[in-house]
Amino acid sequence: MRTPFVAGNWKMNKTIAETRELVAAMKTGLSGVGGVEKVICPPFMALAEASELLKDSEIGLGAQNLHWEEKGAFTGEVAPGMVKELCGYVILGHSERRAYFGETDEIVNRKLLAAQKFDLTPIVCVGETLEQYESNQTRDVVMRQTGLGLKGVSAEFASRIVVAYEPVWAIGTGKASNGKEANAVVKDFIRPAIAELYGEQTAQAIRVLYGGSVTGANAAEFFSEPDIDGALVGGASLKVEDFVQIVTHSKA
Ligand code: PEP
Repeated sequence: MRTPFVAGNWKMNKTIAETRELVAAMKTGLSGVGGVEKVICPPFMALAEASELLKDSEIGLGAQNLHWEEKGAFTGEVAPGMVKELCGYVILGHSERRAYFGETDEIVNRKLLAAQKFDLTPIVCVGETLEQYESNQTRDVVMRQTGLGLKGVSAEFASRIVVAYEPVWAIGTGKASNGKEANAVVKDFIRPAIAELYGEQTAQAIRVLYGGSVTGANAAEFFSEPDIDGALVGGASLKVEDFVQIVTHSKA
């Protein structure tokens, strides 16, 4: 049995003061919603504040990125050890990082290896663009991103990785995929790509999330699918009611 997992990616939203408010509201809203691993990922600047506020809570804290080097002359970057001081999780390979910051599968893999070294649970994002979707490249893209992104970690760490299937055309567009189609990608492409690297047992143990315009209203459709274990939520993770609804649906 895979424990449901819901993570909120706040992206570049919320100041420290706004984080204080939103975290307090999330704590209240999510108190008593057990049986789900729930994580919020505020921007770097707000992580210290969020970490203080979440000290006595069951809500985990994640970063949205990290650099693979441990320290040095990398202006503007954040090292994995710095993330580890505050967080237990890190989002890697988000499509916005791939599209706007040139992150390749090799870079995502280096970051994954850094996450392993610093004992951070990675949420690795994979997914095809609209053009790739329309030209039937979903299988190739998703299997490549999964295979190259996840390689080289220990068998023990591999089963801790969380993968998020996020079709790029569904992110922030209000046009979510549908449960059946997303489940087929996870079952037929993502788990087999993991199985090629780490065997069937690990492929079945890893949590795979769906992400892309998930809301309180459509979450249940995705969570009712057998291979989808939760969600990576962008826009709706900034709205307490929506996020609580999504988390609540995930354990149904
Ligand atoms: C995301 O950024 O990972 C995401 C899924 O965004 P949204 O939920 O807003 O589509």
